[in-house]
Amino acid sequence: MGRLVMKFGGTSVANIDRIRNVARHVKREVDAGHDVAVVVSAMSGKTNELVEWCGDASPLHDAREYDAVVASGEQVTSGLLAIVLQGMGIQARSWQGWQIPIKTSDAHASARILEIDGSEISARFKDRQEVAVIAGFQGINPQTNRITTLGRGGSDTSAVAIAAAIRADRCDIYTDVDGVYTTDPRVVPKARRLDKIAFEDMLELASLGAKVLQVRSVELGMVHNIPVFVRSSFDKPEDIDPHGTPPGTLICSEEEIMESHVVTGIAFSKDEAQISLRQIEDKPGVAAAIFGPLADANINVDMIVQNVSEDGKTTDLTFTVPASDYNRARDTITSSKGKIGYARLDSATDVSKVSVIGSGMRSHAGVAAKAFKALSERNINIRAITTSEIKFSVLIDAAYTELAVRTLHTLYGLDQT
Ligand code: ADP
Ligand code: ASP
Ligand code: MG
Repeated sequence: MGRLVMKFGGTSVANIDRIRNVARHVKREVDAGHDVAVVVSAMSGKTNELVEWCGDASPLHDAREYDAVVASGEQVTSGLLAIVLQGMGIQARSWQGWQIPIKTSDAHASARILEIDGSEISARFKDRQEVAVIAGFQGINPQTNRITTLGRGGSDTSAVAIAAAIRADRCDIYTDVDGVYTTDPRVVPKARRLDKIAFEDMLELASLGAKVLQVRSVELGMVHNIPVFVRSSFDKPEDIDPHGTPPGTLICSEEEIMESHVVTGIAFSKDEAQISLRQIEDKPGVAAAIFGPLADANINVDMIVQNVSEDGKTTDLTFTVPASDYNRARDTITSSKGKIGYARLDSATDVSKVSVIGSGMRSHAGVAAKAFKALSERNINIRAITTSEIKFSVLIDAAYTELAVRTLHTLYGLDQT
């Protein structure tokens, strides 16, 4: 007997039939004698609709009211799952973030979890064998008493944080794919499912665009050392062998991984924008004049490349920002034009970032060089490059994303055979 968190994403709770299927998965674990806390997302598409409604109501809406609106999708699915479970004769109770409470910062729409009181949920496991059905994605700020949300994909983070709070043995993330693959299996059919992946590699994959887990959930799993298992909710609950290991991917510490490859996986993100400042005078203080105001405006700059301008006397500086911050970044730079002193601003939003990840890169040289050659053979132009110990990224035209990902996937021997 153990203690489990089971998280179900949007597609897994998309309608009442799917919620019934989820309930049968929960019953399976309850019947096996486990204490179970379930974390649910909103029905697929619901959060997008709620976000859109806020925008339609007013483009410059109050962030607190945005959270009040978008948190409602999870309220519906948690209540519905509790109703279905009760109908199956299982003790169950739904919980909103504020009822537990899940205390968060006041950064509306991207709040961080500060503290979770798991005592009532744990007491109910003991006293009444009651399943807790928790609304993912939401919490409450203790100072303002307002509802907060954790950023898109945040139910993963709710689940891992709950697992830490109730000292669960494992956190199972049920989704619409049966594990973490070497790259998005919807884009590269030859992608291979990984049996295990280290927290470090998963952290990079998630932060560089693989949306299968929210980045913060991986960080929490790593800090609290909670094994996270990604698996499919579409497997029939009755077909699962209670004593066997189901298909899926275990995210765990590096030591538990016997066989390590140089490259673990490839991620990509189309949510990038490029800004190039042409003919900047090459003198001390210029970088500060550009990146200082962007930092003050809370805009994250990712890749930075500096090279000699066409005239051979001045420099060009290229950098990327998240597409959602593109307009603000442009405005911030143009209003500092006098201080920076550049001749022209060029920009592009139809770009994407393709990243190759692997902790094995630490001990292997020349991994990135191979990629640059393979991409050039495909006539894919690289606009910018960044590297770190365990990954490198290239910025390319968005139209070539799939071709670049497939090329690199084959190059590093990741294709399924
Ligand atoms: P949920 O609604 O269950 O949270 P998401 O849509 O957030 O599901 O995440 C699952 C999706 O992540 C998959 O459908 C898949 O297209 C995408 N994905 C991207 N990269 C990967 C990867 N490396 N492995 C598995 N899935 C990935
Ligand atoms: N429903 C929220 C979203 O779509 C949270 C989640 O699904 O994890 O972002
Ligand atoms: Mg998700």
